[in-house]
Amino acid sequence: MAVLPLLIRRRQRYERQRRRWWVKPWIERRMLFGQYHTLMTEIERECQGNFVNHVRMPPAMFYELLQRITPRIQKSEPGEFYDPYLKILDDCNERYIATTRNKENRYLPNSNEAWTVLVSETQCSSGLSIRINQLSIYTTNDSCTDYLKIEEIGSSRVLFHSCDGKQNYIETAGNGVRISFISDDVHEGSGFQLSHQEKAAIKENQAKVPKTPKVPFLDPFKLVPCHHFSQEKPAPFYVEIHNTALIIMDIHAHVSKTEVIGMLGGCFHGDDQHLEITMAIPCNSISTGLQCEMDPVSQTFACEEINNNRMNVVGWYHSHPTFNPNPSIRDIETQLKFQDYFAQGGFSFIGVIVSPYNRTSPGMCSEFQCLTISSEISPVDKCNMPYSFNYGMIMQPLQSELVMRSINMLAEKYSHDRNRVELLQPYLGDTSCLSKMLESLKDSLEPNSEESTQFLEIVSEIFIMAFGPGKVEARAVPDPELLVSPPDG
Ligand SMILES: [Zn+2]
Repeated sequence: MAVLPLLIRRRQRYERQRRRWWVKPWIERRMLFGQYHTLMTEIERECQGNFVNHVRMPPAMFYELLQRITPRIQKSEPGEFYDPYLKILDDCNERYIATTRNKENRYLPNSNEAWTVLVSETQCSSGLSIRINQLSIYTTNDSCTDYLKIEEIGSSRVLFHSCDGKQNYIETAGNGVRISFISDDVHEGSGFQLSHQEKAAIKENQAKVPKTPKVPFLDPFKLVPCHHFSQEKPAPFYVEIHNTALIIMDIHAHVSKTEVIGMLGGCFHGDDQHLEITMAIPCNSISTGLQCEMDPVSQTFACEEINNNRMNVVGWYHSHPTFNPNPSIRDIETQLKFQDYFAQGGFSFIGVIVSPYNRTSPGMCSEFQCLTISSEISPVDKCNMPYSFNYGMIMQPLQSELVMRSINMLAEKYSHDRNRVELLQPYLGDTSCLSKMLESLKDSLEPNSEESTQFLEIVSEIFIMAFGPGKVEARAVPDPELLVSPPDG
């Protein structure tokens, strides 16, 4: 019975021995030399039998075929050709990247080979360092028909040419090189062998890599002060706005605690380079949680209405309910998109921002900012610079059909809106929000005119009817924080 453990141990040792593999040296070197690049040369040199097993033909036939097809696969589609010699180095270990195919220790006659070597930026990120391990190419003083050339990809700068270069290392700050090898049909040498050796040179290279500048984070709600046109930077055109358009924008801004939005219609007078804004059409906004955006359906209706009045879409407006009318970074981006879009059709496009309840503004009147965005980048705010227009006002008959329809629509719509301003609630002391609004409208009216007084009375009646006591009870609880803090940017 004592023999049994002995037999088991012997059996186990035998099993272990059986699992030991002998690996062919050329297979073991794959990690260092790359899968295919030096494979053919190595197996041909070391074991002709392996070569035949591997490619199912003798070396001479293989190279003959390869030489015949290489020009076709390399030149068939310039720029996008399949490159059998493309190497992407995605680790930093030393490995062979290019070598001549040899026969009896001589490189082949009539070679025309090219390798593209790219180093993966994330891994080594410091350019490429190439070592010339071996170099024997036939040249004489007056002939350079056989040569090895290494060029930087991108700049096409020649980093090495065997006819006049003797260095052992080649370094490039770029992330790729193109290696080409040409030979004629006489006097071959034994060839060359190049390796990529990132680890050895990585420290030196790292110092050369320029640090990528940090992209500044732009707060989309940051307000950017507007610049003013001057003699050095004159306005591209001047702007006139019908008082009725200002009135609609002002009423619209006053009735909502959140941002309101709308389109502007008008026409451009090319003869004296002035933009006349004749109408403001309120649109619905979609709340995105942080900021309001224009509802595309109502935007389409607004544009149709402008066109039906034989006017062009020439701008947009929105409100900053309780803060100054400077554009936010997002407003600047939106305005730029509009400007670019309309510029394609040869039209100008402006933006208007209305601030009705800005506590820092003096008096009861809303602040208006009429602006355009320039292509200049502000060095302080790192965004395109907004410029404001000093616009003129053109007085119009007040009780036009369009104006009265818009006012009635705003009263009706916002009397049901959960973000409405309770117009009959106090704004400051004894002054209600409605009185404040009417006071602000006076800025856009002919002073001391009967028409203006009558108009203000009509507007007052419309909003008392819509926002009156009978309706207040049926609606939501008045917001005690009304107008205290800006709802958004
Ligand atoms: Zn805004």
